Amino acid sequence: MTSPQEAFVAFDHVQKSYDGVSLVVKDLNLFIGKGEFLTMLGPSGSGKTTTLMMLAGFETATHGEIRLDGVNINLVPPHKRGIGMVFQNYALFPHMTVGENLSFPLEVRGMDKSTRETKVKRALDMVQMYSFINRRPAQLSGGQQQRIALARALVFDPKLVLMDEPLGALDKQLREHMQFEIKHLHESLGITVVYVTHDQGEALTMSDRVAVFNDGRIQQLATPSDLYERPENSFVAGFIGENNKLAGTVEEIGGGRCTVRLATGEVIDATPVNVTAKGQKTLVSIRPERVEYKPESFPAGAHVLDAEVLEFIYMGDLFRTRLKVAGSEDFVIKSRNTMGQRVLKPGEKIKVGWHPQDARALDL
Ligand code: ADP
Repeated sequence: MTSPQEAFVAFDHVQKSYDGVSLVVKDLNLFIGKGEFLTMLGPSGSGKTTTLMMLAGFETATHGEIRLDGVNINLVPPHKRGIGMVFQNYALFPHMTVGENLSFPLEVRGMDKSTRETKVKRALDMVQMYSFINRRPAQLSGGQQQRIALARALVFDPKLVLMDEPLGALDKQLREHMQFEIKHLHESLGITVVYVTHDQGEALTMSDRVAVFNDGRIQQLATPSDLYERPENSFVAGFIGENNKLAGTVEEIGGGRCTVRLATGEVIDATPVNVTAKGQKTLVSIRPERVEYKPESFPAGAHVLDAEVLEFIYMGDLFRTRLKVAGSEDFVIKSRNTMGQRVLKPGEKIKVGWHPQDARALDL
């Protein structure tokens, strides 16, 4: 946890309204440590870009304070913040060569020619693009242009780099490759990165911590594994990965456990997440990969429920089976495509089981 005092980037009670009426960022308190890779993840319109733009200096906060390395930067113009930026639509200058594009931010900072040449070479080497120094952007592929944009953001040794959907325009394979490249650069340079994406896979792969945004608020701020394993509310549980949800009512609660009576009468154990009282309506969430359907694989102490196969989908490395369980027709299990795996048929009656620890009771 980064405290407000030791934070390298601090959003302290920050609000933003564009129209003076509605807040698109609501009382944001976010403290990012030096050298951290923090990702803001959330659906479109949740306030991620607005938050990043306030940090970059292209938007001003309506209320609150933004600090960089302990200094209030609310009134500091963008070019004086010393922040490197890579945006999907933050294009390279088309009339300049790659080398000139990189040299430009150094010229603006008044660096002499030989220093500029050294820094440009080093930045292009970082992204393995030095041999392209004399090309113009139009002579490069989309992925190569994005590498140059990355080099341009790094060329003046910023301590903080902001990236807004930088890989959004690339195809899947190249995007995954660039995710590793950016992650490696972050690790080797020790820079602080604030990254915006709506792609949860990207967020989970790259980040030290992820802030999940919805409706102008952070819903949860946690490491990728905590977000996935311990979502704190039903929005995060639904947004990160896939979750089966069974509706029910809390029957007993105490000592970090609760029992839930499902809509169809079965009673199961679960970990209470944000339910607090007997009689409260709840959705019990269980990850598809934590549900077994072969009785010999049921974990000790498993809950076992009746299920009916509705749909069986072949996905290559995985099988995805949709079942009817406790009244829900949207209960999914995922199983690995291993040798001899039995193919389930629609209409077949089976049993499913999971460890009670893997069931989490969330409020509606
Ligand atoms: P995200 O990056 O999560 O998609 P944004 O920060 O872009 O979200 O947008 C948050 C909200 O603010 C949206 O409702 C959007 O329509 C609104 N908004 C964004 N930019 C502007 C702007 N320049 N003027 C007015 N409203 C804006």
